[in-house]
Amino acid sequence: MANNGLPALGRVKLSDLIPSEGIPSDSYKLSISTLSQSLAQYSAAIIQFSASEGALLRSGLDSARLYFHQRSLYPSADMIHTGDSREWCKTTGYYADPQLWQENYDYRPGLTPIESNNAIECAPGGLSDIFSLLGKAARDILDAISFYLNLRSSPFIEVLDNVPLRNREISSSVLSVCCNARQSFEGAQSHNLTAQEDGQLIMYPDHEHQVDKSLISLVKSDKAGLHVRDFHGRWVLVDGDLGPQEAIVYPGLALYQATAGYVSPALYRTEINNMQCSIYGRCFLAFKLMPKSMTSLSCSEMRAAGHGVDAQFQIPITVDDFMQRSHPIDQIFNRHSIQNFNFPASQDGCMKTSSRRRKNNSRSKPLPPSKRLRLVAQRVLKERVQDIAEKKGIKLRFCNLKDCEKHIHALDSPCSNIRMEIGWPPGVPFVHPHDLPNKAKIGFLEAYEPGSTHDMELNMMESGQGSQH
Ligand SMILES: [Zn+2]
Repeated sequence: MANNGLPALGRVKLSDLIPSEGIPSDSYKLSISTLSQSLAQYSAAIIQFSASEGALLRSGLDSARLYFHQRSLYPSADMIHTGDSREWCKTTGYYADPQLWQENYDYRPGLTPIESNNAIECAPGGLSDIFSLLGKAARDILDAISFYLNLRSSPFIEVLDNVPLRNREISSSVLSVCCNARQSFEGAQSHNLTAQEDGQLIMYPDHEHQVDKSLISLVKSDKAGLHVRDFHGRWVLVDGDLGPQEAIVYPGLALYQATAGYVSPALYRTEINNMQCSIYGRCFLAFKLMPKSMTSLSCSEMRAAGHGVDAQFQIPITVDDFMQRSHPIDQIFNRHSIQNFNFPASQDGCMKTSSRRRKNNSRSKPLPPSKRLRLVAQRVLKERVQDIAEKKGIKLRFCNLKDCEKHIHALDSPCSNIRMEIGWPPGVPFVHPHDLPNKAKIGFLEAYEPGSTHDMELNMMESGQGSQH
């Protein structure tokens, strides 16, 4: 990734993302560019808080460690999360998920945990301050993404909780204080308990990969262990080198839905093996900015900004329905690749059908990956990019590759406005896809058809063409 893309996760100061009236400052534009590039490439970015905010997060982690440590016994059966997805916006207090090897304490303003077993429970400290810090940060980041997508400011305000909550409202967003794999919990693995689908997380058959249903999630951990899949399909450890004031941000499924698939949700997993000998396990704070129930996710803002919206995103979906539905990973991450292989477009996206179709296709002789990549890139240019450009009355005039490799790192370059306007992926030179190096073609496709290149990329790596022009 010499000329295009970030060598590692992008780092952005939260204070630089806070919008102000008038013309956007250079630091704002630069931060937005880093954030969006990191999200496009890694589905995650590092957010830097101020010193005092960092101190608050660290004290939250200290308090989390203490909280879980004092719960020395394995939770009784009623603390095992039953995972009724109808309860997605009602979890509160302590629960455990043996399959994820994780314990949680959910803080949900407006809802008081019900004490069970007469247990005198003291909640982890500082929750309301941390909630308000991370909630504000998540909203600022969401606005930054909106700016990048060229949406009007605060386009998601309709689906977000009131600030502050009004009389008797319950927060949809939630702060979870979590602990993976602490020792006494580990001993409980012999209990053959089964947990079902968690309200906010989707389990996959191997219980390894998860996607949040949030718009935006923020995570601050005390030990490394969070892996997110990047756009090459590789697992990247994202919290391996976090400073004391830093946290991870990644997008969830609700944002994917609300942006008509333009922002891919992070697929993540937690590495637990390395923690087996720790008494305290791995503690982390996870804030999920959730859309509120009784609203719906629609792509009207995306359409208004001139983005092409696929059939499957055309009809608004109620948030309750969205949260209770399962979202099989294949449909999200391979959605476009199914279309790319020229199968008849299917609206229902039934998994069985698509996997059968894929099998059929593999019998016919496939094109070499690089050629297929070029064809798909050209089709996407023709179908999507030109569509966006036309709707905005923009004439596409491409740069030459050599020049543009410098343009993409400069703030004021001949192509910067047009790239911003049409949502050209950060770090990808503004040239005809035919002329893009393969890596940049993949970046281009990932931006306009998220998930479309995953299979191809693997093929290319297998045949050793991945990193060559
Ligand atoms: Zn250029």
